[in-house]
Amino acid sequence: MREKGRSIDDLFSFLSAKRQEDVSHEYILSSMCTIPHPVASRAHSLFLETNLGDPGLFPGTASLESLLIERLGTLLSLPAAYGYATSGGTESNIQALRIAKRLSGSRTPNVVVPRSVHFSFQKACDILDLEMRTVPLDREFRMDTDRVPELIDRNTCALVGVAGTTEYGVVDPIRELSSIAADFGIFLHVDAAFGGMVLPFLDDAPPFDFSLPGVSSIAVDPHKMGMSTIPAGVLLIREKDAFSSLAVDTPYLSVRQEFTLSGTRPGGPVAGALAVLEYLGKEGMRDIVAGCMKNTWRLIDGMEAFGIPRIVTPDVNVATFAKTNVPAPWRVSWTREGHLRIVCMPHVHAGIIESFLKDIGDIHA
Ligand code: PLP
Repeated sequence: MREKGRSIDDLFSFLSAKRQEDVSHEYILSSMCTIPHPVASRAHSLFLETNLGDPGLFPGTASLESLLIERLGTLLSLPAAYGYATSGGTESNIQALRIAKRLSGSRTPNVVVPRSVHFSFQKACDILDLEMRTVPLDREFRMDTDRVPELIDRNTCALVGVAGTTEYGVVDPIRELSSIAADFGIFLHVDAAFGGMVLPFLDDAPPFDFSLPGVSSIAVDPHKMGMSTIPAGVLLIREKDAFSSLAVDTPYLSVRQEFTLSGTRPGGPVAGALAVLEYLGKEGMRDIVAGCMKNTWRLIDGMEAFGIPRIVTPDVNVATFAKTNVPAPWRVSWTREGHLRIVCMPHVHAGIIESFLKDIGDIHA
């Protein structure tokens, strides 16, 4: 650390220069995060010093968290859902499996997941000492649910399905998983970190939420398609007892117990996430999602016109293509199968798709 502090001008010119080194969102086609909605940034800035880890000191902020849970629970067909704001999909997935492990009581628990699960499940299984049993995918990169029962045994504490896979943007057959979970009496966690803020705003979306009786918990991330500031995830649970299983005593705080993973938790992103929902309403979210889907289809049509085929027809705004050269400065990503992957987030507007297609067309001409 410096002995003497820096002047404000010097400090902020240093910080601005560092920020300039980041890739401009104009070229970011690979991320599931986006530029926060202006109301999210404004709301976040009002709550900078709030700490949801000590909610008795911040009852106003805590009530916003409750409202966020109620709003998202209602959106996902369970207005009475329990939940809390996490730091994102990773924490929500860890906590869901932690609950499932506690509830099962098994000494050698395992979880059954599709091969497409996000790598956060590897972290969760490592931390929680769970055996991960991986189910193959069908030709459309969805979990092959016919293969699930053979992997379940009496030590299976959870089944996991993904609603909006990270790499291919498809939704696993959650209805089938719900029946399997109900038949075997197993906890079913749905990772809708991405799709949870897309599917409710689409016509004819595949079912994935609490309307399916076997679904026990859902991860949904406002900091992805919810256009909140980072970090904003939410874990929703059907049964209250599930959270109680994680409670620890918190002697020096304004509450007696907590069941969250983090202690100190920021109120800013929670205010940001709620602000977006309140400001846009369902109507505004439908427009945003429709725009992202329209851009996804334009991209798919444009790429196919150059002879670069899609890999799957996605359920959400993630497009994948056969391997092809992509010129700088575009930042795309590649799936583990080596396919080109582009996420049409709200910042990836129609003009960006057209200039990307033009650059690809120049290469393929
Ligand atoms: N689950 C899914 C389906 C995801 O796509 C991601 C991230 O992209 C995560 C979980 C992890 O979310 P986070 O990076 O917010 O922890």
